[in-house]
Amino acid sequence: MQNSIERCLDAALTGPLYFGQILIQKIGAGGFVLSHRDDKTLDELKTSRNAEDAIEIAKYDDAGNYRPLKTAPNLRHGWRLELDTLEELRRALDYFYPGRLAVFAAWKSGKLQTTPLRETLNRQSGMYRIAAKISDTQIDNLVADFCRSNGGCLRTILWKRDGDGAIASTKLPKEKFDPSHDQAAACSRRPVGDARASHSEAATAPLLCQEACNLLVAECRTAVKGE
Ligand code: SF4
Repeated sequence: MQNSIERCLDAALTGPLYFGQILIQKIGAGGFVLSHRDDKTLDELKTSRNAEDAIEIAKYDDAGNYRPLKTAPNLRHGWRLELDTLEELRRALDYFYPGRLAVFAAWKSGKLQTTPLRETLNRQSGMYRIAAKISDTQIDNLVADFCRSNGGCLRTILWKRDGDGAIASTKLPKEKFDPSHDQAAACSRRPVGDARASHSEAATAPLLCQEACNLLVAECRTAVKGE
């Protein structure tokens, strides 16, 4: 029996679907093929058939560097994952982008709660407590650099800077806060006119950021310490 996340995923799969840098395509009798959205010659990709293989694929970038932030736009190329069931697809996507499907499903059902950055910083303890001393100007600059889609992170920011509803950064384009915008398009390397151009019509399921991640909190601490 499908759970609510799988039902949400199923409803989004009316055709090819982009989820971050992944292209999901339905095949045959209920199966799925996943690949990096920029890999155009599917036949030459290394094929796996186990959802758990996504753990290794997601671990390192093309240069072999560890990926601490799984929603950074540096998913490696050259792989193809064939999965038989929706349940396997859900598991694989959760390895690629931990927690993002559940947040997407909560957002679709109108139940997603977001947390302002200042609230996240104020509840830090120990060595991260000092991060709360960051100024609004520092936040403006830091978030613009650290969270930007092109080179930083592919999530759509839904949280505010503070309880008054100030925008997370005035220096990011308004699309960074728009769940209907395809954040990964800015860093796609696909050449114009390639054979898979039709997939530019693929729908997009956003990777949503409902609360600042630990890496951004650590950067806030570094900004304060560096003053
Ligand atoms: S705070 Fe959100 S948008 Fe910014 S880097 Fe972390 S996960 Fe990405």
